[in-house]
Amino acid sequence: MAEPTAPSSSPADAQPAPAEAKPKIKIKTRKPKQRACDEKDEKGKLCGGHLKRWYDYPKEIEELIGPKAEIYRCEFCKTLYKPNLSEMPHSYTLRY
Ligand SMILES: [Zn+2]
Repeated sequence: MAEPTAPSSSPADAQPAPAEAKPKIKIKTRKPKQRACDEKDEKGKLCGGHLKRWYDYPKEIEELIGPKAEIYRCEFCKTLYKPNLSEMPHSYTLRY
């Protein structure tokens, strides 16, 4: 595929920036009332790190979850946790 109109403004891009061996971003959903990470390592040991609200996440995370999203991160293994949307403070129940 030729690029007829796209101006290539990168003169020496022979080698793409070396990926800094970043671990794949993993996003889980928090279980109701969950405050500690339940990730297990390869030995099956529970991580148990605290899930902390993460405010200033980088762009690559923003692309995944959107800007100003509510996200938590394990302090140990850095697994990301989305809030559980079914965990609402309201006590509306469906009545029939
Ligand atoms: Zn963890």
